[in-house]
Amino acid sequence: MSNSPWYEKTSILRFSRRQFIGATATSAFAAVAADCLFMPQLNAQITLTPNDALKELMDGNERFVSGRMTSFEHDLQILKEHTVDKQEPFAAVLACADSRVPVELIFDETIGQIFVTRVAGNVVTPEIIGSLEYGAAVLGIKIIMILGHANCGAVKAAIQGKDVPGQISSLFPHIQPAIDKAGSDLAAVTKANAEIQAKLLRESSPVIAPLVKEGKLKVVSGVYTLATGKVTLS
Ligand SMILES: [Zn+2]
Repeated sequence: MSNSPWYEKTSILRFSRRQFIGATATSAFAAVAADCLFMPQLNAQITLTPNDALKELMDGNERFVSGRMTSFEHDLQILKEHTVDKQEPFAAVLACADSRVPVELIFDETIGQIFVTRVAGNVVTPEIIGSLEYGAAVLGIKIIMILGHANCGAVKAAIQGKDVPGQISSLFPHIQPAIDKAGSDLAAVTKANAEIQAKLLRESSPVIAPLVKEGKLKVVSGVYTLATGKVTLS
């Protein structure tokens, strides 16, 4: 089970929908007991180290790439019920708004597992920093991943630097440092952008920086390849 989601690693959390229905059919008491046994998963993140949390994300991506996903086996109704009053996601991901980067899917995770922020170009803005600070300080996430992706329209537009309508150009200054560093190659700028945004977050937030220093939180960057579904850390 080493490749399974963290909340499955204790046997009491391995109830599939079928098993749960089986339990209810056996006796009402068993059903209540099974239901209550789902509660410990809400505290499971406490025992995770940042490296465990990163491994969980990358293992999930491996399951996604190989088509061996397990997140659909969980009973969403039960997960919903037990996360109504509380959430304890183990990871946060800052991804692009791009429709081809569905965060939970590509990491094979389900309700309550990932705290997701998304904005075109996966750039760190004050609102994004505030959201991720909440994830780190209040929710206790162990890992933050800044996730760029192949063929990113926002990065492409920033490299081209043409006139664009509305406020689209408000994204450009955030991406410019990556262009300054990596030139005009889309893949190189995308990778550099994720790295720069991660560094910015790691070093500039008065909430996140000390947690990183104390080893309680890790901020990493990666790039998602659309064609393969693979996330590559940088
Ligand atoms: Zn994008």
